[in-house]
Amino acid sequence: MAANLNLTALTLNELAGSMPGLAPVHARTLWRAVQRELRVDVSDRSAFQVPLRRWLEENPVEVTALAGVREIRSGDGWTRKFLLRLGDGHTIETVLMGYPGRFTACLSTQAGCAMGCVFCATGQAGFTRHLSTGEIVAQVLHCRRALAAEGLSGLRNLVLMGMGEPLHNYDSVMSALEIVTDPCGQNLGPSRISISTVGLVPGIRRLTEERRPYHLAVSLHGATEAERAALVPVGRRWPLAELMVACREYTAAMGRKIFFEWTLIAGGNDTAEQAGRLAALLRGMPAHVNLIPLNPTAGFAGSAASEGAADRFQGILRAAGIPSTIRQRRGIDVAAGCGQLKAGAV
Ligand code: SAH
Ligand code: SF4
Repeated sequence: MAANLNLTALTLNELAGSMPGLAPVHARTLWRAVQRELRVDVSDRSAFQVPLRRWLEENPVEVTALAGVREIRSGDGWTRKFLLRLGDGHTIETVLMGYPGRFTACLSTQAGCAMGCVFCATGQAGFTRHLSTGEIVAQVLHCRRALAAEGLSGLRNLVLMGMGEPLHNYDSVMSALEIVTDPCGQNLGPSRISISTVGLVPGIRRLTEERRPYHLAVSLHGATEAERAALVPVGRRWPLAELMVACREYTAAMGRKIFFEWTLIAGGNDTAEQAGRLAALLRGMPAHVNLIPLNPTAGFAGSAASEGAADRFQGILRAAGIPSTIRQRRGIDVAAGCGQLKAGAV
C-alpha cells in the first residue's frame, strides 16, 4: 500500500503533482488548510469542493502534528519553551520568543546532535536522529497554533538554533524552509530566517551553490585551530582555515554578510588577545559577530564571561571595524537559552 501523502511535508508543487487530473485550485485548498488555516486534520471536508472531496475518499492524507508534552514560560513571560513529542516517542524542544509586536521561533532540526560541542546540552546528550521535513514544519505550525489560541499572531522570524546541526540534515531543512516561505501558505520572509551551523564546510558550499536566500550564522568560539577544536570537536574535521575559505566564498558569491557566533566563556575565550585574533580572522569580510555569554549546562563547568570582559571584547572588534551584538539572555530561568535545550525524560 502506498504511504499516505503528508500535507505538512510536501511543497504545494509536490502536492499538486500528486493530484493529476485535478484543477490546481484543489491542491491549493488542501495545502492551505494545513499551512495557512493550521488545521491538524482534514477529515471534515464540508468546506471542500466535490472533486477534492472525491479525491480525498480515494487518497489517504496525513498531517504531522507534534504532541505538546509541556510548555514552560520564563519568569518575564516573553519566552516559552515547548517540549514536543515526535511520532516515535522521542522528544524535542522548540522555543518561542516574544518581542514588541513580533515573535521569533527557534527550531530544532535533529533530536540530539552528533557534533559534541563541549558547552552545549544538546551536544552533551548525543545524537538520536534527524528530524523529517514534516517535523520541522510542524514546530512552526505548533507555535502558530499556540499564539492563535491566545488571540496572538505575528510570528515573523525563524532561527534554526535549537537542537541539532541544520546542515547535517540539509535536505529536510531546505524542504521545510521552502514550505514555510511559500507565499500561498505561511509566507515567512526568507530574509527573516537564519540558519546557524557549527561549520560544516560541505553544507556551506551547498548553500552557496544553491543560492539559498537565508541568513547564515557560523559558530566559531575560537580563532585558532587548537582553541576552536577544544570547544568544537568537528573543528578537527573541518579546520578553521578551510571553514574561513568557504565563508569568504559564501559572502563573495551571495553578496551578504555572515553572522559569527562566539559563546563567551570566562577565562576561556574572552581575553583581549582572543578578540584581536578574531578581528584578524574576519578582516575585510562582511561580518557581524554575535557574542553569547555562556549559558549554564550540567556537563560543562565553565561560567559566562563578565560584563566587563564582554564589553572589552566588543570594544576590540569595534576598533577593528567589525560590528557585534552581545546577545540578550532569554529564557535562562527555564533552560530555554542557547545551548540549553535537551529533550527531557517524559
Ligand atoms: N548546531 C548549530 C545551531 C544550534 S546551537 C550551531 O552550533 O551553530 C545555537 C548557538 O548556541 C550556537 O552558536 C552554539 O554554539 C550556541 N551555544 C551552544 N551551547 C551554548 C551555551 N551553553 N551557552 C551559550 N551559547 C551556546
Ligand atoms: Fe550541536 Fe550546535 Fe550544540 Fe554544537 S552547539 S552540539 S553543533 S547543537
